[in-house]
Amino acid sequence: TKPVLPRRYHRLREVLNRRQKDLTVLLEDVHKPHNFSAIIRTCDAVGVFAAHGVYQHGDVPAFSETAKGSQKWVNIQTHSDLKTAVNDLKNQGFTLYATHLSENAIDYRTPDYTQPSCILFGAEKWGVSEEAVNLVDYNIYIPMFGMVESLNVSVAAAVILFEAQRQRLAAGYYEQSRLDPETYHRTLFRWAYP
Ligand code: SAM
Repeated sequence: TKPVLPRRYHRLREVLNRRQKDLTVLLEDVHKPHNFSAIIRTCDAVGVFAAHGVYQHGDVPAFSETAKGSQKWVNIQTHSDLKTAVNDLKNQGFTLYATHLSENAIDYRTPDYTQPSCILFGAEKWGVSEEAVNLVDYNIYIPMFGMVESLNVSVAAAVILFEAQRQRLAAGYYEQSRLDPETYHRTLFRWAYP
């Protein structure tokens, strides 16, 4: 193993210090490599520690150039099916928000994302499934006033994750590490010696 230069080590720690274990996404059949990659890159920027995916209609997408290597810094966890994924996340204390326009959907700025939050995004073609809508706690939407009825999924993910970042910045969540020591040291070692 090559030694890690002090500057590199410092940088790894700086990034790790801002990682948020209690902010995540669940991607439901988001299968286009560039969308998947763009979302993971945004997760890295916002400080998402781990991202989740369910691929019941096709394979887990490969990463494209768009990811810019962010897949090395965000843990990607895939689940066999949606129900298992949602139950796992609920058991970990996450509130689940599906990005889905329905009668009782709330504006994406309403929730308190300083609490453990998981945002579920739907497939490019058919959106969030009925099953997902029934399993989550809330539906949220980004208001739109154009002719086209939806945003690209990676754009929607960026808008919502940066609202979560805004709230978490205001709450001081990026000022010192919020990871438990074991996760912190295990991750730092994995990042330093991939
Ligand atoms: N035809 C699909 C439908 O009817 O739902 C459109 C899916 S849209 C292209 C893909 C995903 O982007 C959605 O499942 C959702 O996760 C997200 N998305 C798009 N526009 C959104 C908005 N205005 N608010 C929240 N999420 C949005």
